[in-house]
Amino acid sequence: MNILTTNTKLSRDGIYTFNHPSGRPYCIGADSCLGFCFWDNIYKQYPNTKPAHIRNWELSQKPFFADMVIYELQSNPRMKLIRPYASGEYTKKGVEDWHKIASAMPDRRFYSYTKAYKVFDFSALEKLKNFKIIQSEGGIHPVDKRKPHAIIVDKGQPIPDGYVDASESDAIGADPRNKKIALYRKGGK
Ligand code: SF4
Repeated sequence: MNILTTNTKLSRDGIYTFNHPSGRPYCIGADSCLGFCFWDNIYKQYPNTKPAHIRNWELSQKPFFADMVIYELQSNPRMKLIRPYASGEYTKKGVEDWHKIASAMPDRRFYSYTKAYKVFDFSALEKLKNFKIIQSEGGIHPVDKRKPHAIIVDKGQPIPDGYVDASESDAIGADPRNKKIALYRKGGK
């Protein structure tokens, strides 16, 4: 039983994700994104996905969750780049657990998009050299554009000057040099 998963496209960059269910009540801070969430379609197309996400949610509530993830990472050196909450959102415990995980695994890199930046204190995570927090549009709070952030661009519209298009490769969004990220709306953050 793996907590972190990948797919053909993500595995090319050594990317693994941790996911729990999307939508309410799980995605604290979500607002307009609820209307274009990528995962709605995935849940319809692949009915086994949501039960697996619910299992992950239940595991993430356990006191030993961080230790489980650390063990999984230690057992699999192919897991180089980790994205917590490709589906779902941080909780207060999640912020603390992923700080413990990333601190224990300095040879791995971590990145997350979040709409809960103003809900929880991410300052300890942001201080880690191997963790990138990206605020993303679509939540109840506006993003602070002085910090790493992602904007959503409608299909057919140009990418604004100064932004990089990370729609086709998660590795572009994860790159610490890229602070201004654009994602084409396909349902998804
Ligand atoms: S876009 Fe992200 S935050 Fe919004 S509902 Fe979907 S998974 Fe949750």
